[in-house]
Amino acid sequence: MRNLTTFRIGGRPLFYCRPCGYRELECARERCRRHGLPFRILGGGSNLLVDDGCLPFAVIHLCSPGFDWIERTGPTTLRAGGGVRLGELLGYCLGAGLGGLEFLAGIPGTLGGALAGNAGAWGSSIGERVLRTWSLGEANRVEEIPAERVAFAYRTSALGGRIVTEAELALEPRSPELIGGLMRRNLRQKAGRHPVGTPSAGCVFKNPPAAPAGKLLERCGMKGKRVGDAQVSRLHANFICNLAEARAQDVLLLMEMMREAVRGRFGIELEPELKHWESRRTVA
Ligand SMILES: Cc1cc2nc3c(=O)[nH]c(=O)nc-3n(C[C@H](O)[C@H](O)[C@H](O)COP(=O)(O)OP(=O)(O)OC[C@H]3O[C@@H](n4cnc5c(N)ncnc54)[C@H](O)[C@@H]3O)c2cc1C
Repeated sequence: MRNLTTFRIGGRPLFYCRPCGYRELECARERCRRHGLPFRILGGGSNLLVDDGCLPFAVIHLCSPGFDWIERTGPTTLRAGGGVRLGELLGYCLGAGLGGLEFLAGIPGTLGGALAGNAGAWGSSIGERVLRTWSLGEANRVEEIPAERVAFAYRTSALGGRIVTEAELALEPRSPELIGGLMRRNLRQKAGRHPVGTPSAGCVFKNPPAAPAGKLLERCGMKGKRVGDAQVSRLHANFICNLAEARAQDVLLLMEMMREAVRGRFGIELEPELKHWESRRTVA
């Protein structure tokens, strides 16, 4: 998983596969069921902290070539596979003159991962653009779920436990010049504020209603704090960077220190934004 996550941390799952389409995806899930093996869905691995060592679950990786297609469905709508990279999606929108997703510029990962966590920035999130999604449901049926049943909220959605295979998005006609300009501006702002060149999993904690988590952590003096090779970014206190050989345990310890500092000083409980895949055995 070290090679499949932006944090560059994580051990080896018992089973790994990259299905080329629905049939192979169904087979992979059936196989896991037969062997009583729990499974996790992997997209771009950009919001994950994965434990080291042997991982007692299967990883089903939704990416190319089976789930990375984009198709125009109307003058301002498009449908895309859950494994499409957000960068690829933005490139398509730029070329097609479809605006509305520029806020995603600089966010790594796939469409499926973005939908599961309702990814967003600058006050917008992807759920606002969703018309419907498709996931592989029970009995291997592909289920269509309209946006109003997805319950998109701040960095969460009801799609979390599902296998999101496709989505249809509603966009706006916009000139490629304007789209490109907005994307460049967002990228520039992100590059100035986030440690984009160093391995991380993005923001560690969600922003509590009172204030951005980064500001609270900064006021607690957390910038630069380090456990092993895991370090709170000096640029943004809500990022943990992997300086070289950080272990999941280093990150977890540092996260606990961060939570404790904010709890002690402000009485606020920080909630993790990144997802933790534990090596502790769980029931299938
Ligand atoms: C430098 C950097 C900057 C970032 N900036 C932002 C930001 O501004 N805003 C923001 O919201 N996030 C940000 N992130 C976090 C991350 O990029 C997003 O959360 C992204 O949407 C995760 O998508 P992914 O495909 O990488 O998901 P993964 O990390 O692979 O998975 C995350 C979760 O989604 C689930 N999942 C993945 N694919 C599917 C699927 N097809 N169906 C069902 N569940 C699925 C996984 O099981 C897991 O629980 C940043 C990350 C980095 C490294």
